Amino acid sequence: MSSCIFCKIAAGELPGEIIYEDEHSVAFMDIMPVTKGHVLLIPKTHRENIYEMTADEASHLFAAAPKIANALKETFEPAGMNLVQNNGAAAGQAVFHFHLHFVPRYDETDGYRPTWDQKTDEFPSERIQQLAADIRQQLA
Ligand code: 5GP
Ligand code: ZN
Repeated sequence: MSSCIFCKIAAGELPGEIIYEDEHSVAFMDIMPVTKGHVLLIPKTHRENIYEMTADEASHLFAAAPKIANALKETFEPAGMNLVQNNGAAAGQAVFHFHLHFVPRYDETDGYRPTWDQKTDEFPSERIQQLAADIRQQLA
């Protein structure tokens, strides 16, 4: 898409610190990294989010993920690594070209702070079973 910055990085029309490229995907350094080695992996084809991707496109993209994760692990020896992927502004997506974040983790003070409240009162097992049934029906 002509106005998309990630399409432009993939096409070499905007500068990007590319670390990996294959027929389908490109990975480059995040310009505002959360931690040392924060990388983004994107499909070369413009897809706004996970909902727009075909199974083949998702397969091609994720096929590169272990290679990139292992390269980051060997290079920086982080204690752990988060893979993060946001869909929609409400989920924190700011760039609307699908991207998978690789965030190497060093310790609990490294600046990455995922938090969530586990709502066991609101979601007892019967409710979870009902929700699962709803999803299964949608998938059938
Ligand atoms: P989101 O919030 O959409 O999941 O993440 C967007 C990411 O893209 C952010 O981590 C942000 O730092 C990164 N980013 C935004 N603009 C650019 C850019 O022009 N170049 C690069 N390399 N990263 C960018
Ligand atoms: Zn794009």
